[in-house]
Amino acid sequence: MNEARAWLGLGSNLGDRAALIGEAIARLNRAPGLRVVARSGLYRTPPWGEADQPDFLNAAVEVVTALPPHDLLGACQEVERALGRVRTRRWGPRTIDLDILHMEGIALASGPLVLPHPHWRDRAFVLVPLAEIAPDLVIAGIRVGDALAATERAGIARVEDGGPPA
Ligand code: ATP
Ligand code: CA
Ligand code: CA
Repeated sequence: MNEARAWLGLGSNLGDRAALIGEAIARLNRAPGLRVVARSGLYRTPPWGEADQPDFLNAAVEVVTALPPHDLLGACQEVERALGRVRTRRWGPRTIDLDILHMEGIALASGPLVLPHPHWRDRAFVLVPLAEIAPDLVIAGIRVGDALAATERAGIARVEDGGPPA
């Protein structure tokens, strides 16, 4: 069976954010054809895109999967649904967001799944946790650690337990 490694970004800014991220990782790990092999710590990050919402907690995981890319996206969306993600406005508050940042050997430029994620290197809240677990990973010719060095990371703090509720 052909397996590939993939890196996912997780974010939550509604409810018990630390528990939701932990539960999302546990559910991913239980999904058929997929296992979580590394996870970053939790990072408290200022909201991005639209500022009038609570702080986020973000994390990143590495998975090994036999699933093709669209099935991996389906597995992520199933976890989002199970954890009460309601799609309101884009970049608005959410219980959980699971993005596929990169999948080994895969580039998809259009359609419902774009890989690597179109914003993977624009956002410190993605790069800080990703660099914790994969600093030397190269995505589209760019090393994750180098992408992080070029990013403004003000306001991002590693937290032990997610801190007080937002
Ligand atoms: P952003 O994509 O800018 O981080 P978002 O995560 O808030 O914003 P969502 O509403 O969660 O956006 O996702 C919108 C759509 O993005 C999903 O329905 C999915 O089909 C699509 N999508 C495209 N590429 C990816 C990817 N690499 N990972 C996850 N979703 C993706
Ligand atoms: Ca996202
Ligand atoms: Ca998303």
